[in-house]
Amino acid sequence: MSKKYVYLFSEGNRDMRELLGGKGANLAEMTKAGMPVPQGFTISTEACTQYYNDGRQINDEIMGQIYEYIGKMEEIVGKKFGDVSNPLLVSVRSGARASMPGMMDTILNLGLNDEAVEGLANLTGNPRFAYDSYRRFVQMFSDVVMEMSKTEFEKIIDEMKEAKGVKMDTELDADDMKALVVKFKALYKEKMGKDFPSDPKEQLIEAVKAVFRSWDNPRANVYRRMNEIPYDWGTAVNVQAMAFGNSGENSGTGVAFTRDPSTGEKKLYGEYLINAQGEDVVAGIRTPFPISHLQEQMPEVYNEFVEIATRLEKHYKDMQDMEFTIENGKLFMLQTRNGKRTAAAALKIAVDLVDEGMIDEKTAVLRVEPKQLDSLLHPQFDTAALKAAEVIGKGLAASPGAACGKIVFTAEEAKEWAERGEKVVLVRLETSPEDIEGMAAAEGILTVRGGMTSHAAVVARGMGTCCVSGCGDIVVDYDAKKFTLGGKEYKEGEFISLDGSTGNIYGAAIATVEASISGDFRRFMEWADKYRQLQVFCNADNPHDAQQGSDFGSEGIGLCRTEHMFFEASRIKAMREMIVADNTADREKALEKILPYQQGDFEGIYEVMGERPVTIRYLDPPLHEFLPTKEEDIAEIANELGITVEKLHNVIDSLHEFNPMMGHRGCRLAVAYPEIAVMQTKAVINAALNVNKKLGLHIVPHIMIPLVGEVKELKFVKDVVVKTADELIAAAGADMKYEVGTMIEIPRAALTADEIAKEAEFFSFGTNDLTQMTFGFSRDDAGKFLDYYYENKVYESDPFAHIDQNGVGKLVEMAAKLGRATRPELGLGICGEHGGDPTSVEFCHKVGLDYVSCSPFRVPIARLAAAQAAIKNPRA
Ligand code: ADP
Ligand code: MG
Ligand code: MG
Repeated sequence: MSKKYVYLFSEGNRDMRELLGGKGANLAEMTKAGMPVPQGFTISTEACTQYYNDGRQINDEIMGQIYEYIGKMEEIVGKKFGDVSNPLLVSVRSGARASMPGMMDTILNLGLNDEAVEGLANLTGNPRFAYDSYRRFVQMFSDVVMEMSKTEFEKIIDEMKEAKGVKMDTELDADDMKALVVKFKALYKEKMGKDFPSDPKEQLIEAVKAVFRSWDNPRANVYRRMNEIPYDWGTAVNVQAMAFGNSGENSGTGVAFTRDPSTGEKKLYGEYLINAQGEDVVAGIRTPFPISHLQEQMPEVYNEFVEIATRLEKHYKDMQDMEFTIENGKLFMLQTRNGKRTAAAALKIAVDLVDEGMIDEKTAVLRVEPKQLDSLLHPQFDTAALKAAEVIGKGLAASPGAACGKIVFTAEEAKEWAERGEKVVLVRLETSPEDIEGMAAAEGILTVRGGMTSHAAVVARGMGTCCVSGCGDIVVDYDAKKFTLGGKEYKEGEFISLDGSTGNIYGAAIATVEASISGDFRRFMEWADKYRQLQVFCNADNPHDAQQGSDFGSEGIGLCRTEHMFFEASRIKAMREMIVADNTADREKALEKILPYQQGDFEGIYEVMGERPVTIRYLDPPLHEFLPTKEEDIAEIANELGITVEKLHNVIDSLHEFNPMMGHRGCRLAVAYPEIAVMQTKAVINAALNVNKKLGLHIVPHIMIPLVGEVKELKFVKDVVVKTADELIAAAGADMKYEVGTMIEIPRAALTADEIAKEAEFFSFGTNDLTQMTFGFSRDDAGKFLDYYYENKVYESDPFAHIDQNGVGKLVEMAAKLGRATRPELGLGICGEHGGDPTSVEFCHKVGLDYVSCSPFRVPIARLAAAQAAIKNPRA
């Protein structure tokens, strides 16, 4: 039995997106609903996967099915490929399961050749249109299929316009278009060394292959990695009869959203161009009309479109992003999908749809991508500073947010500068898919050309990056690295600020203020909290971060690192004294000096957190990190400590490690110098006793011993802690409980978790260390070779960003089970970077952890991710 690889639009539906891709499934769904869709067929994602399995070949079976479906399509449409009197022209469109805007290339008007173009001219009585379509096709085919550079074709057009003394493409007539085709084909022959293919079936097969190939282009791979889309999904190919938006003044093409994708406001939102095709609107070549204008220009078409848009939104129960084309007064729908939107719009739409009775709360919670919330949590412009600032220009408010950074003019520079830690604003005439990494690195994007649906606008909204587009007043001089606006020059490296909500551009840096959770955001987060089963804690080392986490809804602190507490000028000297001391008594004397500081820090944190759990991790880094490395510093510090330079050198040398990551750190420090654990225990217990007394609370301190790999080393340190703590509590006449637990961050700890749980009252998975020790490479060095791994598809994502579920995850799951078998009430949490990563949070939910802990700014993201995990995989 042979496998079915090709489907007519009339054979599919919305539930088949894995097989047909999003675009194909929705074209099928619209066809089923009786909407006006140019007909065609979809070559499945399985055909794409098969193409790669066959060594980038379309095998005979698939080829046979494509030919068969060309026949079926010709019958349905009533036109024939290559027919001289009534030629079938098609578009070839990629469409993956998840929409990947701008990543794959579409070819329009395929099927034209020297004979068919005459047929089309005769049939429509419009030779200009026929030859315009033909030259577009030659251009697109050369670009997409043969990867010839676009600019050479643009140059030919520009030369022709100049020779004729006209400005717009529309001012070129039929003969000009005809001449362009001849020139384009000559260019093709010159560059490719062969004639432009005239057989429509050959054109089609080449185009299909190009779509399959584009699944593996570098841009697509970067986009997939950024969005966690698996490589093996593949893309489908849609072959669709053309609707001609470029056949005259009664035709056009446009895009529209059922709600405003920037704000979420409920009103039809979009734009269109008369006498234009496909990408013209998006490319920002001419400035389009707003969709409302269509009501006056073509009232019937407008009404039909509004009716369809309303139906589609009701049908999908979500905001739709639609493409349409009008051919001689007749409306055709070319695409619909759940529209990309800003975080603010996503929240408003989710809340409104609940209020409109269209979806329930759980569905609403699933509608907002957790990562997106990030853009709402970062600073906004300070209102007063904004008022005082001078507006130097205005563009379209294409993607909201407050951006302030140094001017750069290329995506490469944006990336380089950002890697150096500079904040940049990318200024471009327009952006294209090659710019994607630079756009991601920039604080904001400013373009001279392009509307609200231009590449820059769409991509920026998807990334949550601020964007102001289409500021036509700007004159950019790429070569001189400057632009002029309002009579003033702005050079590379100078500060500008963008307000993506108003489109305003400012010629200086503007102060910003912290964000807050209110309005729709608050209501939405209350729903998320209602449905989640994981608790969300934050990682905080000081009262300020603890407060920030609390403001964002943190229910405790999962990781309070204590090493930062040693670094302040007043304390590091005592720490150094401790390190250079060569006997216990001197070490204790030095530590006594640190104690009051550390105790004060803990009191501050307890005062913010009250009775919410605060997990304090004992000293973790190797001691050499506290000593100087530069010769002049060594001399100065030796002097300060009252020892010889030679002695300090000896200490530094003795602390040298070949592999500090696996050296004398974590609990190994406390095993060698128990007095450190004594001092830290005094600080924690005294702080809790004091705050309990002061505020009438019952704080239960959580003490966490890092880097344990063996139960006996945990027991050794724990005994020190317990002895010290019990004495203090007894001396205070208090009845305070406390817990001692450990981090699980060494594979051996996970493997022997049943033994470790005999001593530990809780486990916290330190998945940063656990990942590097399990993989055997360090997070600081992996960057140097991971790119090769991505390129060769060995890894698809960074295991430090998304937990490696097969390996590291298995250790986590096993340790959780073993630990709970020994001690059923064992507390379980995660405190590595993964605690704020949505896919990792879902994993933590599934393996039954009690909480995740992440940096304060990721707390709302983790709350939402935890809610989505619970709704998708409810726990008993
Ligand atoms: P993308 O996924 O990048 O949006 P599309 O496949 O949707 O790419 O197509 C790019 C452009 O070509 C869109 O503006 C679309 O409306 C237009 N287009 C695609 N197919 C046709 C067709 N059959 N007739 C007319 N225009 C088309
Ligand atoms: Mg599209
Ligand atoms: Mg660690």
